[in-house]
Amino acid sequence: MKISQMLQNAARPYPSLEIVPPLKGVTKTQLLDSIRPFMEFNPPFVNVTTHRDEFEFIPRQDGSFRRALVRKRVSETAVCAAIQNEFKIEVVPHIICGGASRDIIESKLHDFQFLGVENLLALRGDCITGEKRFVPDPDGYTYASQLVEAIEAFSKTRGYDFCVGVGAYPEKHFEAPNLETDIENLKKKVDAGADYIVTQMFFDNKVFYEFCDKCLAAGITVPIIPGLKPLSSARQISLLPEAFSIDIPLELSSEMEANKDNKEACYQIGKRWCSEQCRDLLAHGCKTVHFYTMGKADNIVDILRENF
Ligand code: FAD
Repeated sequence: MKISQMLQNAARPYPSLEIVPPLKGVTKTQLLDSIRPFMEFNPPFVNVTTHRDEFEFIPRQDGSFRRALVRKRVSETAVCAAIQNEFKIEVVPHIICGGASRDIIESKLHDFQFLGVENLLALRGDCITGEKRFVPDPDGYTYASQLVEAIEAFSKTRGYDFCVGVGAYPEKHFEAPNLETDIENLKKKVDAGADYIVTQMFFDNKVFYEFCDKCLAAGITVPIIPGLKPLSSARQISLLPEAFSIDIPLELSSEMEANKDNKEACYQIGKRWCSEQCRDLLAHGCKTVHFYTMGKADNIVDILRENF
């Protein structure tokens, strides 16, 4: 079923979960066992992130270099097939512009159609190691809006209609000059055919509510799914803002800082904060809340138990 329909028909709120494909060497059983604890909450779908291929230059004896593919993780397609097969639920593979030509993207869409995947999250993708700015493939797409257009064109030609989600940043994407411009660019993705939006993680719900108001004022009327992640260690109060260009509210950062030598206390503080955010979002009428699990189930399972 399409996520747009699920959001319309939901009689009660449900959790949305995002997992990262495992590193090579992890078995299918290990992967599935790491997801199994979430199944108690009947999530109707699971998102699977996609990671861009990286390359290494290996010196040859003649002084030249060989460009070698470094793929650290199992592909999102393989992970999606394993989840579908085991849990009989929808999967939402992320599809990215980064490192992919138009042909490669089309070929991935064929794979997803083959698997019966109905929902995709279309993104530009992160930079790879050593890249300061995103560099598109010479025959690829620069912005996620172009990728959404390509998926729409595929859907029309193949008579197979994907439901497409896109990413958004309540605290602004780090490259955008201001939030207003970023929201104008978000609208381009919706105008290109995106059916719904999933946000970057945030730690202050007020920021999310204000963002939704601004989106509405800009003419964005598709559903916006809030994204949450519980802090699990004191180090994350500096790591996450650096990695994701987000703010940690003073109240939360001070509490983590004051307990930085007590791992368990920090874990509990992060979990409690996230659970309160989730409760408040549901009370404000959100039909689903997206959790960035990053391969860790325990704290999120506790949060789901308290809220769903
Ligand atoms: P875009 O929408 O293309 O925007 C990128 C920047 O360009 C923004 O600053 C925007 O304002 C600007 N822009 C957009 N259109 C235009 C235009 N026409 N003209 C000028 N400027 C424009 N990354 C991964 O690699 N793999 C994943 O699986 C993954 N999953 C994610 C899931 C979610 C829910 C989110 C929110 C992010 C995820 N990311 C993932 C990270 C994402 O790929 C990066 O944040 C990336 O830098 C931006 O992606 P985007 O799709 O938002 O890009």
